[in-house]
Amino acid sequence: MIKIAVIPGDGIGKEVVAEGLKVLKKIEQLANVSFDFQEYPFGADHYLKTGETLPDWAIEEFRNFDAIYFGAIGDPRVKPGVLEHGILLKLRFSLDLYINLRPVKLYHPRLTPIKGKEKIDMIFVRENTEGLYAGAGGFLRRGTPQEVAIQEMINTRYGVERAVRFAFEYAKKTGRKKVTLVDKANVLTYAHDLWQRVFAEVSNDYPEIETDHYYVDAMAMKMIRSPEIFEVVVTPNMFGDILTDLGAEIVGGLGLAASGNIHPGRVSMFEPVHGSAPDIAGKGIANPLAAILTASLMLEHLGLDKAAHMIEKAVARVIEENKVTPDLGGSLKTNEVGDAVVEALEVLWDEEG
Ligand code: ATP
Repeated sequence: MIKIAVIPGDGIGKEVVAEGLKVLKKIEQLANVSFDFQEYPFGADHYLKTGETLPDWAIEEFRNFDAIYFGAIGDPRVKPGVLEHGILLKLRFSLDLYINLRPVKLYHPRLTPIKGKEKIDMIFVRENTEGLYAGAGGFLRRGTPQEVAIQEMINTRYGVERAVRFAFEYAKKTGRKKVTLVDKANVLTYAHDLWQRVFAEVSNDYPEIETDHYYVDAMAMKMIRSPEIFEVVVTPNMFGDILTDLGAEIVGGLGLAASGNIHPGRVSMFEPVHGSAPDIAGKGIANPLAAILTASLMLEHLGLDKAAHMIEKAVARVIEENKVTPDLGGSLKTNEVGDAVVEALEVLWDEEG
């Protein structure tokens, strides 16, 4: 029995998680596994009713699960930052989810705005707890003309090494042949010098895997010009944040972008990259494929490789047949796309035997 905590959250989070669960329930039948889903109410409604974002007892409870399946949070009635800090960042830091894993995969050539690209299939390993996002810094003489604002970039050897090692391990596990480091060591001559040295050291343990390197500015260009050359990319927190949004756009946008917040060997959290999208919530037009691909990423992490792979194939099939929501040029509703994926999954599973 695989224990999964489910936090649908707010807005379209609820709508797309429902479709992800539909697909996971079909996997239970097809793959002969069982999931024990336990749903939690955290999000804007719960906060407005109780004043609670994410209590400590819930974090403790989550430690006993195999994974957390998360929708999205954010609501116009709640001040920006309250739910993000109180729920998402709290989960990330309390559970030490030090990897943000984000695939950038083109499921159909018509989805990319880059002319003539057929194949894009890279995955970002973004360090998720340090760098400029560690929250270290402060103000001096705040609000005066002499104000000083400092935000420190934290890079520990421990933190860098575990991220880099994850990237090589992931490449090895999934049969990918190359790991690319993206940094800005030519300017950040201390912090990213550490990244370069650690990368070189760790790569010695993986002689079968090729290595490559780009400065982040060159990477932004290269991702448009030749995205097909990348396989696994490892990068510090802020660059990962920015480049993965660029990545999402070159393969079809937010409606398809999946992510995992991972601590290998411990409970990890899987969420679509998009937010709660209040502008389209309740209309039944949210694209559930990001949430469904997120479920696939979660199953891969849990070692259910075949099920994960088959969900991806089913998603590719519905995209090919244009059984998609308006953001991808189709006319189906959220739940109809979920049904189409379930149907495709059944057919493909049958075909593969
Ligand atoms: P956040 O501030 O957390 O990023 P947001 O709700 O402001 O959240 P997103 O939800 O990330 O923004 O998305 C921005 C816009 O992209 C939405 O307003 C919506 O129009 C569109 N969008 C996002 N996700 C989807 C989706 N799954 N299906 C269709 N459109 C989407």
